[in-house]
Amino acid sequence: DRIARRRDREFSEFRKRIKDTEQFKVEASVFDDATFAALYKLVQDGYIDAFGAPISTGKEANVYTALAGSESPDAGGADLTVDTDGDEGSDDTGSDDTGGDERDRSTSDDQPPTPDAEREVAVKVYRINASDFKDMRGYLDGDPRFEGIGSDKKKVVTAWVRKEFANLRRAREAGVRVPEPIAVERNVLVMEYIATEAGRAKRLNEVHIENPETAFEVLREYMRRLHRAGLVHGDLSEYNVVFHEGQLVVIDLGQAVTTHSPNAEDFLRRDCTNVANFFASQGVEVTSDGLYEFVTAE
Ligand code: ATP
Ligand code: MN
Repeated sequence: DRIARRRDREFSEFRKRIKDTEQFKVEASVFDDATFAALYKLVQDGYIDAFGAPISTGKEANVYTALAGSESPDAGGADLTVDTDGDEGSDDTGSDDTGGDERDRSTSDDQPPTPDAEREVAVKVYRINASDFKDMRGYLDGDPRFEGIGSDKKKVVTAWVRKEFANLRRAREAGVRVPEPIAVERNVLVMEYIATEAGRAKRLNEVHIENPETAFEVLREYMRRLHRAGLVHGDLSEYNVVFHEGQLVVIDLGQAVTTHSPNAEDFLRRDCTNVANFFASQGVEVTSDGLYEFVTAE
């Protein structure tokens, strides 16, 4: 009871702390009590600390940065080295990017490891009410890992988040570079934040690719490894692959399905088409069918 009271007090202080954060003035309304409770649990368990800025606000989920808690592992090691280089600053919208003048790339590799206190993680928060859960349900069908989930909205979303966590782990084990999954709690996923001092790593559609041939070969190999590990990404395109320190990192594995799923074949065909179209636009000689053959070859 005294402990319970103290826990209640700590919880409301934590909620106030989030709500008072400047960036959360707008966001606070989308967090229901159960989401606050999930975030609070993640803080208590040492996975996250103070919240940072939103990186992305999507239809179904928002992604935020947060300071890593004491239980967050060091950033995951590289699995496959790529000699392809992302060139930031070629963004023709010229939004927040002022060009390369301020950056000194020659020193960026010499940075000492970021001290724990400054390490950041990415926190993906699914909005249970806003989610198009009928869509989500279809991606869970036929997945033996999520049989008998039913159609309760909250259950579907929380299963989805656990699926994303499991998919990230499986992809990693298969040698595909993805954000390292750190923790999952209800509708919240904590993972490695792929970023540099300049902010989040840019997506393939946002960078100038110096060597599209190599980038394609790496992504093709990732697709094959995923497939051999029994997974199909299901939303693979230049929008869900980022460049980081000369590597490609595949993100957004929530909708990935097992190769036994009734939709796996269609998803894989679509992934191949997206990826082939993008790299064809970069001058690589590639066809959707050729890519499909490569990915599914025994
Ligand atoms: P969308 O509907 O736009 O595809 P989403 O809700 O499916 O978004 P993600 O694709 O996982 O969510 O994340 C949205 C954006 O946030 C990504 O395009 C990427 O720029 C950024 N992002 C997500 N996860 C990470 C991460 N771990 N590290 C760095 N940036 C990330
Ligand atoms: Mn995405």
